[in-house]
Amino acid sequence: MGEGAAPLAELHPGTLDCVHCGLCLPVCPTYRETGRETSSPRGRVYLLRGVAEGEIPLGDVVAEEAALCLGCRACETACPSGVRFGSLIERARARVTSAGLRDAPAQRLERFALRQLVPHKTRLHWALSLVGLGQRLGLDRPVLRLLPEWLRGLAPRVPPLRERRRLPGLVAARGERRGRVALLEGCIMPELFGAVNAATARVLACNGFEVVQVAGQGCCGALQAHAGDEEFARSLLERNARAFAAADGLDAIVVNSAGCGAFLREAGDWLGPDGERLAARVRDVSEFLDEAGLRAPEGELRLRVCYDDPCHLVHGQGVDAAPRKLLEAIPGLELVPHADPTGCCGAAGTYNLTQPGMSAAILGRKMDALQAADPDVVATGNPGCLMQIRAGVTQRGLRARVVHPVELLDEAYAN
Ligand code: SF4
Ligand code: SF4
Repeated sequence: MGEGAAPLAELHPGTLDCVHCGLCLPVCPTYRETGRETSSPRGRVYLLRGVAEGEIPLGDVVAEEAALCLGCRACETACPSGVRFGSLIERARARVTSAGLRDAPAQRLERFALRQLVPHKTRLHWALSLVGLGQRLGLDRPVLRLLPEWLRGLAPRVPPLRERRRLPGLVAARGERRGRVALLEGCIMPELFGAVNAATARVLACNGFEVVQVAGQGCCGALQAHAGDEEFARSLLERNARAFAAADGLDAIVVNSAGCGAFLREAGDWLGPDGERLAARVRDVSEFLDEAGLRAPEGELRLRVCYDDPCHLVHGQGVDAAPRKLLEAIPGLELVPHADPTGCCGAAGTYNLTQPGMSAAILGRKMDALQAADPDVVATGNPGCLMQIRAGVTQRGLRARVVHPVELLDEAYAN
């Protein structure tokens, strides 16, 4: 290895797993859009290995490809050699950032928001309250008119305050008690998807689980890790590991945001044994209910539903059957297939803001598939995907509601 290999030298062993078979190419959204080898998983592994071996400089091409990759991990599912591409690309992004190669205004703004706003509950709450007030008074319209049409659709409506209340410290189990779980509250979830958190707690309670809110938990660090802010992501993860380690008697830490779940499950890579202990208790809500044995709801929902796999659930956590099984357990609900269930929707953390053109093209494929299936409802278990697909539905003028799978279960239990 040459002298110049130092910036990515620690990634070198991970790049050696690639045997250049090319099986990852057809599943990679950026390769499908560009047809360029450098924008494929194999091409990116080649670039990273070249830098680690001192053959390729750590420069703009590597920085651009690290930013253009969605981190969707579809390539990991396809790869027969076990290349851990998600971890490689996140660490490469961190090195690119620390080398000063990712310093455009958009990246500085992203870093500021992910450090100074997103993990601070009070600041985030007031910032979104102001946005919500502006939306209700129609003050957002002049600003939105300045944005491209597809980006306008991405700006989420801030829900009313009654949906942004924190969950109570304890939600009691209903019926025969089967155990006690913690629910990861998240950062964006309580503010923009408080209804999903509330539905998750009710569904767990309906299944006999007491749901507790663990003090000291917070933003998990997934968005920051995805954006290459390694040091800050680690500090957030450590805080969560400490908080959940102090909570006794938990059967699981249940997560309803696929991106957060995938990150927490890799906590061992970041924190060693403390992280492994945290990771071992994390379960996606669909997986947890399926493993526990769902108490079948009696209420009917006569709906045609397309389930869409969040990348960080299907590729990041290997969970694909459980959400479908839960939805199929709802009387009257018809699960309708569509042509692109495991393809990325283009949300990918803050990707739809930092790479708007590519994100819109990738969303276009997803929407073609959903439009052809014409469901009443699209169900997907990740906040970024919910926002992105809602934007696609609005843009295309489709009639479908876009919801988290637990919201359908909750409706069925309430019926
Ligand atoms: S993570 Fe997704 S976008 Fe990145 S190389 Fe793999 S398949 Fe392509
Ligand atoms: S599928 Fe895996 S081994 Fe094959 S080219 Fe892609 S990354 Fe390399």
